[in-house]
Amino acid sequence: MEDTVTAAIRRYEQRRNCRFRFDALLSDMDGVLYDSMKYHAAAWAATMQGEGIECTSDEFYMHEGRTGKATINIYYRRDKGRDANDEETARIYAEKARRFVAFGKADPMPGAQKLMLHIKEAGVKTVLVTGSGQRSLLDKIEADYPGIFTPETMVTAFDVKKGKPDAEPYLMGLKKGGVASNNAAVLENAPLGVEAGVAAGIFTIAVNTGPLPDAALVEAGADLVFPDMASLYRQIDKIITYNR
Ligand code: MG
Repeated sequence: MEDTVTAAIRRYEQRRNCRFRFDALLSDMDGVLYDSMKYHAAAWAATMQGEGIECTSDEFYMHEGRTGKATINIYYRRDKGRDANDEETARIYAEKARRFVAFGKADPMPGAQKLMLHIKEAGVKTVLVTGSGQRSLLDKIEADYPGIFTPETMVTAFDVKKGKPDAEPYLMGLKKGGVASNNAAVLENAPLGVEAGVAAGIFTIAVNTGPLPDAALVEAGADLVFPDMASLYRQIDKIITYNR
């Protein structure tokens, strides 16, 4: 019988009517490369509560991947019946960023460095695709993931207009990686990020590193869901060697 990974790739090939080969990995950052989502969620909740808006930190895992502006507008529309203006958006995002930085250094996600190094050494290109505009994390990438990502192979909040769940960031990632959608895989932890990868027509792998149920990632369209990086690492050679 076919293993789960091979079966998932075959289903992807049938759905897209294409031949898959893993030439590039398009990886999300928060919740994938860094164990940083707990800080983002807490910073968002405290900032919104400071605006008099009722919310809990767990809700922000469902918004993960959106641009700051889009996230702020969801709460403004719900609470005030309108979008935030530019001044409000800038002030609130700055406050959220200040609170995030105050938590200190986020640790690399356990197992992520080993996984990225293995993928790179197998000759697969690595591209970063994040909705984050958090300089503190972007600057850390080279220190924690040396030689894996370069500024030319990064898509950040500064590059995109729409952000996840729109396909735009991952379409831009394909362009930066110089590959077609059937020659790449997306690595994500968030439902909206999975939606973006699937909308871009890419084989999408989810690693569930947060508090949401696996079903949230499956419903978003993930081709595979793993509980952690170590579990993905144990299966990654099946993806690397497929059609090679
Ligand atoms: Mg993420």
